[in-house]
Amino acid sequence: MSLQEYKELVGADVIDELHLLADRVRHLHLQNINSTPVGGGVAEILTRMIPLLRDLGVRASWDVIKGDQPFFNVTKAFHNALHGAHEVITEEMFEIFRATTEMNLREFQFTGDVVLVHDPQPAGLIARKKDIGRRWVWRCHIDISVPEPKVWEFLRPYVEQYDASLFSMPDFAQRLRIPQFMVCPSIDPLSDKNRELPKEQIEAVLYKYLIDPERPILTQISRFDRLKDPLGVIAAYRMVKKRRDCQLILAGGGAPDDPEGAEVLREVQEAASSDPDIHVLLLPPFSDLEINALVRASTVVLQKSIREGFGLTVSESLWKRKPVIGGAVGGIKVQIINGVTGFLVHSPEGAAQRILQLLDDKDLCERLGETGHQHVKENFLLTRHVKDYLLVMLAAEHPNEDVVTLS
Ligand code: UDP
Repeated sequence: MSLQEYKELVGADVIDELHLLADRVRHLHLQNINSTPVGGGVAEILTRMIPLLRDLGVRASWDVIKGDQPFFNVTKAFHNALHGAHEVITEEMFEIFRATTEMNLREFQFTGDVVLVHDPQPAGLIARKKDIGRRWVWRCHIDISVPEPKVWEFLRPYVEQYDASLFSMPDFAQRLRIPQFMVCPSIDPLSDKNRELPKEQIEAVLYKYLIDPERPILTQISRFDRLKDPLGVIAAYRMVKKRRDCQLILAGGGAPDDPEGAEVLREVQEAASSDPDIHVLLLPPFSDLEINALVRASTVVLQKSIREGFGLTVSESLWKRKPVIGGAVGGIKVQIINGVTGFLVHSPEGAAQRILQLLDDKDLCERLGETGHQHVKENFLLTRHVKDYLLVMLAAEHPNEDVVTLS
């Protein structure tokens, strides 16, 4: 993958600007740290981001913390609680978090001049700052606008030791004693997940999963996670199915840092078991071409989340000019402008009504798809995200100067 390949899509000016910025930070090493190498949006972005930064001559790396099952049970509960969901949080859970953080602190190599730590799981690594210095930035990918106070008050003292924090939306900003910047996530238009595909390849994937190409297809691509509301999607499909023939695809895989996936998958399989038109697909990691094909084959895409940090799947679908119906939560609200780039809904009933409207109006689908594509092109492509990270590096090196404004 080379930056030159993006020129045609985003214009030469954008690429030139990236080179100019890269020149100013080439002496710095950006080390990313998160909790999983695959599965979920953070891994998706880093997989695409690191090669592009390197292509710009910037030293960028990515390391993953270690954790056992109890640790990831705890951090998944923290994740849900920070999203505002009810979770029982005990002192023992805080102890498990502290102990795994200590273990990682003993084993981890901190190689970056700028250490970019993603999400709560590795947030405790900041303890090393007092020994080794460097610039530390906490990158929050989740919606912490209304966090469960107990977990947030546990996490906040870690966060406030960082030099700065990055959030995906202004709504997520918190009262913090450190600077906060807004950086939206992004998709890579040239990746296997998003690039154009020949018709035959799309049809082959439908054939493989026994999906009928002749009848409307509703799709949600997501980890099997309650906050993605797969059962709500099935409920909406059932309401639609009474009035229009259609099929539903619920496709997703797991992530090593998400221990709830298997249980949610079982619930979904059970809810779907009596209907051969509901296709529950458990996809292995690196199913990017298949996911691309499934979305391209869809009539309507759903992302009916109950809470959402950003929801990369929304931009991935808008980019493919698909009409998208999303839960009116978190980062979905910056991607779907209601009635312009898709529809926002608050319930399975609302989703069903919008699905019916879209199934009956091909022109509307095309209009939403086109504006959705333009919206992603202007706001949520990887090249913009690379620029923001270069600016973060620059700002990290010059913390007391107003040298940059993040886009
Ligand atoms: N994804 C995937 N395989 C799956 C399910 C999801 O590759 O089985 C991808 C999806 O296409 C998107 C990312 O994982 O790129 C999920 O990011 P999102 O922000 O939508 O949700 P998260 O999982 O981070 O909550």
